[in-house]
Amino acid sequence: MPAQKIISQWRILQPIHFVLGLLILLTASLLLWQHYGMNLYLRFDPGNFNKISASDDRDNNGGKSIGLISINPKYWRLDCQLNKGHRTPYCSIDFDLSNGTQGIDLSKYTDITIRYRYQNTREQVNLVMVNFNPEYSIESDYRSQKFTEVYLPGAAGWSTQTLKWHQFNVASWWIADKKIPPKWTNNEFSNIREIRLATGLYPELSNIRIDLAYIEFRGKWINNDTLQLLLLLLWGGTAAVWLLSELRRSMQALQRSHARQKDLENAQQHLQETNQLLAERSMRDPLTLAFNREGLSILLAKETPDTPGSIIFIDIDYFKKINDHYGHGTGDQVLCQLVQHIQQQIRPSEQLIRLGGEEFILLCQHSNLAQAERLAEKLRLWLFSQSWPAEIPLSCSFGVAERQKGEQFEATLHRADLALYRAKAGGRNRVEVAE
Ligand code: GH3
Ligand code: MG
Ligand code: MG
Repeated sequence: MPAQKIISQWRILQPIHFVLGLLILLTASLLLWQHYGMNLYLRFDPGNFNKISASDDRDNNGGKSIGLISINPKYWRLDCQLNKGHRTPYCSIDFDLSNGTQGIDLSKYTDITIRYRYQNTREQVNLVMVNFNPEYSIESDYRSQKFTEVYLPGAAGWSTQTLKWHQFNVASWWIADKKIPPKWTNNEFSNIREIRLATGLYPELSNIRIDLAYIEFRGKWINNDTLQLLLLLLWGGTAAVWLLSELRRSMQALQRSHARQKDLENAQQHLQETNQLLAERSMRDPLTLAFNREGLSILLAKETPDTPGSIIFIDIDYFKKINDHYGHGTGDQVLCQLVQHIQQQIRPSEQLIRLGGEEFILLCQHSNLAQAERLAEKLRLWLFSQSWPAEIPLSCSFGVAERQKGEQFEATLHRADLALYRAKAGGRNRVEVAE
């Protein structure tokens, strides 16, 4: 496969894929490591431990049993003569684990293995963990410590037993003697000061022998429950972080798309405004801003031949002379002012159109001939009385025509033009009405 193709295939991977891969790898490694490694190990045998002693019931409620311990290279031996006297005669091998007042935390171990031999196969041996906890124990009273025990069968040959902590039980005599409330009657191995291997309950009174090769404790730095919790937190935490980042990403994308939509709307509105402006401009004469012929045709499109109204044709008198005498620029100024002056005098329903040059028409909807004539006369006087650039004396001539029923606009305009012609011919600065 060409390198280019491999690279392009890798591109489809996202950070979450790498995180997932990493998590799977981490989980598998932790599980394997915990299974095959992370070992905790503790062993007591004659080769490595010597704080060991024998005890018996002699110093306790009139007991008469006699226990003796001997140490072999490979095991400890307890020889015990169980005699009548104590209510439950006993002997035991005691392991002193205390270091001052401190014991050992054995709760982190999960498997307890003991190798022993007890020729009296009809009896049991009693393995006891003695835990000190200031909540219920006091230094001066050995029996105020918690006794948690398990009974194992006697074995003529060497027997190896592996136990879990839950197979132990708190001794009922301890609960009864010390009147321990239920909240302290749970198994407890976090501060073990002593381990005892003793004769069982109510044994036959005889000479017995117990050999003990070792006691071993095995566990893991991280036990199964903790590992499961750790993995759960790892996966759950990663999922939560991923979800939050996805949520944030989506929200940002949403915000960006909103912003884009807003930009688009703004651009669209701007375009519409520009269009409207351009349409408006195309209807107007750029010099005077009066409607032009394009504007006129749009205005007329809204009318029918039956629309009533009148037309006033306006033409500046001797405009050519103004241009010739004062220049084209002044002529332009005159044209602009003329439009402004007329706009001041007309109603919103009346529209001024520049047909070209210095010729204008005024569309007067709703006006009959007499009304239009009055308006033309008013405008004539008004314009004549204004002051113009360079104090030019300016006058205009007017031709007025009312739209006949069914008459085309051009026909009315023609009649107004004829009337204007008459006004010019009649001496200018006057209003003439069409026949
Ligand atoms: P009459 O009284 O008979 O109407 O005479 P007149 O000189 O006004 O008419 P004529 O039609 O002979 O001249 C119109 C002049 O208008 C000719 C032209 O130079 C001028 N003109 C046309 N358009 C413009 C314009 O946009 N600006 C300027 N300054 N002059 C214009
Ligand atoms: Mg003229
Ligand atoms: Mg003219």
